[in-house]
This record gives sequence, structure tokens and C-alpha cells, in this order.
Amino acid sequence: MSPTNNPEPRAASVLKARNLAKAFGSNKVLRDIDIDIRRGQVVALIGPSGSGKTTVLRSLNGLEVPDGGTVTFGGTGTNGDTSGGLSIDFGSKVGKKDIAALRDRSAMVFQHYNLFPHMTVLKNIIEGPVQVQKRPKAEAIAEAERLLERVGLADKRDAYPFELSGGQQQRVGIVRALALKPQLLLFDEPTSALDPELVGDVLGVIKELAEEGWTMVIVTHELAFAQHVADEVIFMDGGVVVERGPAAEVLRAPRQERTKLFVKRLQ
Ligand code: ADP
Repeated sequence: MSPTNNPEPRAASVLKARNLAKAFGSNKVLRDIDIDIRRGQVVALIGPSGSGKTTVLRSLNGLEVPDGGTVTFGGTGTNGDTSGGLSIDFGSKVGKKDIAALRDRSAMVFQHYNLFPHMTVLKNIIEGPVQVQKRPKAEAIAEAERLLERVGLADKRDAYPFELSGGQQQRVGIVRALALKPQLLLFDEPTSALDPELVGDVLGVIKELAEEGWTMVIVTHELAFAQHVADEVIFMDGGVVVERGPAAEVLRAPRQERTKLFVKRLQ
């Protein structure tokens, strides 16, 4: 149905990926991957280990360069920035500038936090905004302090990553991503390296971000969490999308055998 026929106002498209393909040598790890994300939508990417989830996420922000397919970002971000649209065709020559522009649209939260070990928490957070985005340092510090307060880590501003628990490091990782004010937040198994008792805090922060209207793609094995926060669930296996749909449908009433097996095993 076209938007004009639709009585419900539809949120703007943030990201459209079409036919993404990627091989490492002879290993075809992604084939025909399509993803659509509208503003405020949360998409959970699930599937067995090695199915290509991380490669999809890394392809969306240029950490991997797909061999084919297109990625298009709309012009308006969660924070109302109107930095203009961006469209990249990986089938043709892709330059450093394209990749830099793609990187700028999203921010990644990594499984192993990936904080700079030699920098304080504050420095970790302001590095991107100040060095890459050329924002005024005082403004970046004020924003970092506000975000740290939000996740209950105001007193860790001057600590080093090794002084923090895994859960605290991951909350800093989330703050670092938010400080970039991206159109899209990408989470790569954000809780799978954490001790079980620390998982809840991090999932709690992500849930709040979803409620605030951030647009997110989350790779996760936490199916209960996915069902709770995701609007759409995409199940991948063997480098392809096997099934997709509303979270409750895919997780509670999957249609495909492979999805049924996977969901059953994790419940
Ligand atoms: P998932 O996130 O679902 O576990 P990945 O995207 O990490 O899956 O991996 C998909 C496949 O791609 C796996 O077979 C993995 O070994 C391979 N792969 C991922 N990254 C690389 C790389 N940098 N070099 C070679 N093979 C890779």
C-alpha cells in the first residue's frame, strides 16, 4: 500500500538495504539480504552462530564492505538531524568517502565493548564527537556527562575501562555510541560477554532507548528480550534471511522449520 492510501502516518525510512552479498574467499556468508528500517523501529537479528548476523551489521556501517547490493539512508535521524540522504551501490566502485559517510550514519555497540584501554571513560566517549565530528570539546563533555548520569555512571567519568565491570563497560559502550548522535544504533550481541547477573542492567538501558524512539538493529540470542523490544525479528541461517515478521509471530509461531528448531532450542 502506498503511503497516500495508508491512513496511519508512516515513519520516515532510516535505512533500506537491498541484495547485500558478501563472501570471504569462497565462503559466501551473505546472499540477497534485504532490510528496511523506519524511524523509531527496533529490528532484532537472530540466528545460529555463523549465520552472518554480525557481517550484516558490520556491512550496514561500513566495517565490512559488501561485494554487492545497495544501502540507502534517509535524510532524517532520531535526533532530527537532516544531514541528507546517502545511497551506496556496492556493485560499483565504492570510495573511502562513501565508507566514511556510511560510518557516520550509525554507531555500533560491540560484544566486547571495544573501549580504548588507555583512555578514561570520558575520553572514550568524547573521542568520536571531538576528533571525528569536530564538535566543540566543552559541548561534547557536557553531553558525555549527561549521558553517563543517565546510565548511572556519572562517578566513573575519570575511571579507566579495566576498573569497571563488564556491565559498566558496556554501558559506557552504549553512551559512546549515543554521543555520536547517529541515525541508527547497531548492537552486536551486546550482552553475550557478560556474567548473567550483569545482563539485566544492559538490557534495561537498551529497552529505555527503544522506548525513547531510537532506531536500532540488535543482534541477540536473548529471545525473550527480542520479543519484548523488537518490532520486527529477522531470522537468518546460512547467510540468508529465512523468516521475518512481527516479533511475536516469528518467535512464538514461526512458519519455517529452521526457525522452529532454532527458537525451540533457545527457549
Ligand atoms: P554470526 O554473527 O551469525 O555468528 P558472522 O557474520 O560472524 O556470523 O560470520 C558468518 C560467516 O562469515 C562465518 O562463517 C564466519 O567464519 C565468516 N567470517 C566472518 N568474518 C570473517 C572474516 N573477517 N574473514 C573470514 N571469514 C569471516
